Amino acid sequence: PARFEPAQLLGGADTLYLAEDASLDPAVPASRVDLLAAAVAAGGYDTILFSNSVLAADVAAGLAARLEAGLNWDLAAVEERDGALVGTRLALGDSVQAEVGWTSGVRLGLFRAGSFDPRAPDPGSPAPNVVDEVVRVGTLAGAVDVVESLPAEDAGPPLEDADVVVSGGMGLGAKEGFALAEALAEALGGVVGATRAAVYAGWYPHSAQVGQTGKTVCPRLYVALGISGAVQHKVGMQSSKTIVAINTDPSAPIFEFSDLAVVGDVHTIVPALVELLRQRRS
Ligand code: FAD
Repeated sequence: PARFEPAQLLGGADTLYLAEDASLDPAVPASRVDLLAAAVAAGGYDTILFSNSVLAADVAAGLAARLEAGLNWDLAAVEERDGALVGTRLALGDSVQAEVGWTSGVRLGLFRAGSFDPRAPDPGSPAPNVVDEVVRVGTLAGAVDVVESLPAEDAGPPLEDADVVVSGGMGLGAKEGFALAEALAEALGGVVGATRAAVYAGWYPHSAQVGQTGKTVCPRLYVALGISGAVQHKVGMQSSKTIVAINTDPSAPIFEFSDLAVVGDVHTIVPALVELLRQRRS
């Protein structure tokens, strides 16, 4: 409680539950499920909404099981209609909106990050009621022992939230070829991704891998440099709003789902493109 002034952090929240416990230090869901279950019981809440992350998805799933509650995930919006809560999920590359509901008494929802703008703290709103006694870690907390933690490979800002992703594949020719992807990403204000083949070749860290066994991204702009477009790559980026692919092979599968297909050598096109973008920016 001494670490921050709650009223400054939250505009409009009625109650702020505080908990401090060593089991909360590692990013594992067990003790968080305990805490949230206790807070839900203390406050008698019937709707619990999360902003999606790997940890939040784990916690939401655990809490759903604990409370025997329904969980709708990947929501983009929610509204109350005739007394019922209706969530909106986007599907098929965001071209379709599906409406989902809950049949359970307690309703859990996991939202796509960025679905709502943060509410600005309102200096005029009353300070929230701070509760720091009800919430205790319980049964699950001791179920997990963290044996070792390693720092994540640092590949810059998170791919999943990037507005622009420039990904490189084997067509970059060598590890050094990723300098092209980095230069283009920098010029476009984006983040670099990679195919599994490029990651396996040791050209870029695994944390940048896009696809079935990597990350799923849906930026406004996805630029694929020397990427064939294998289905395992496609599933991780097909929801991108605009896909631009540069490939020497006019029959590369990636062109089948690209908005702009550029047939040519990345080593010629990318430096020219970077130069053009830099000129425009200046
Ligand atoms: P390639 O398929 O070798 O394609 C290279 C492309 O570069 C070619 O189209 C070529 O025409 C083009 N090219 C060559 N030279 C140039 C040049 N100078 N300029 C422009 N273009 C050029 N892959 C993923 O990406 N992500 C995953 O998560 C993933 N998970 C997988 C999971 C499983 C279970 C399996 C079996 C596979 C998975 N893969 C994944 C691998 C996937 O099947 C492909 O092998 C991989 O995506 C191919 O990578 P690539 O496009 O870089 O290479």
